[in-house]
Amino acid sequence: MINTIDYHHIFSEIASEFKEVDDLGAIANYIPELGKVDPTKLGVHLTTVDNQHYAFGDADEPFSIQSVAKVLSLTLALKIMGGDLWNRVGVEPSGSPFNSLVQLEYEKGIPRNPFINAGAIVICDILVTCLDDPKNDLLAFIRKISGIDSINYSSKVAESEKKCGYRNYALVNLMKDFGNIHNDVDIVLDLYFYLCSIEMTCKELTNAFMFLASGGMNPIINERVISLTRTKRINSVMLTCGFYDEAGEFAFRVGLPGKSGVGGGIVAIHPGKFCIAVWSPKLNAKGNSYKGMKVLEALTTKTKCSIF
Ligand code: GLU
Repeated sequence: MINTIDYHHIFSEIASEFKEVDDLGAIANYIPELGKVDPTKLGVHLTTVDNQHYAFGDADEPFSIQSVAKVLSLTLALKIMGGDLWNRVGVEPSGSPFNSLVQLEYEKGIPRNPFINAGAIVICDILVTCLDDPKNDLLAFIRKISGIDSINYSSKVAESEKKCGYRNYALVNLMKDFGNIHNDVDIVLDLYFYLCSIEMTCKELTNAFMFLASGGMNPIINERVISLTRTKRINSVMLTCGFYDEAGEFAFRVGLPGKSGVGGGIVAIHPGKFCIAVWSPKLNAKGNSYKGMKVLEALTTKTKCSIF
């Protein structure tokens, strides 16, 4: 099945079609450093589970992966803490913007899922508790599961976000009040901002996320990252919660589990077949890459291949 799809041909069709598509999105300039990115960038990289690569555009250019990184911090926290983690963060779509405070008040400081900001901050709190050197240990984990030692944080982006992360400060303080943050709020948020500042290329992202396409094992570097059952759990949370309050729309149009970030990146998984990363910085009104979503919709339409 994998080799019967002519990805080369499909990618050249998509690349030429998308030259004509107007980008109606807007760059996320609420984090000043992100506002400096060239808005015309478009990169796509697909890696199959048997290590075939297909790409076009700016697929080898590093960008700020932002919330896409929340899948990797969740993976590490699950490895360390196991299923008890779900007592502190739920697995339901929020139906609210990623940085909303309202639901958190009603639900007594337990975030709906690990991908909205509040949930990812709780995951950072767990990592601060469990790791000796949280920033370096998290980075070492991501380098190990991707097999790429050059992956790094951007302190410029992290510090830029720290200066204007008022909502994230509000979220962490509210959860601290409810008893769902166990460490110093500044230490937890520092890890959170650094997590969001990680820079990777589309190609590197497919390496790092490949384990989710192949039952928890990264076949490219022969490394088991997590169990099959936990792979299922992570993919299912990506499907239902990976796109802010547009997860239904993404499942409807694209039909793959995935995760987006306000840097304009999206990673999507076809379990058993491939991992794909797309980057186009301008975002739609819900905070997802405008062109990125359209490219992925075109891919699953042309290949006639989604999980449904
Ligand atoms: N660092 C961003 C924030 O906290 C992440 C947002 C995102 O990519 O969803 O606002």
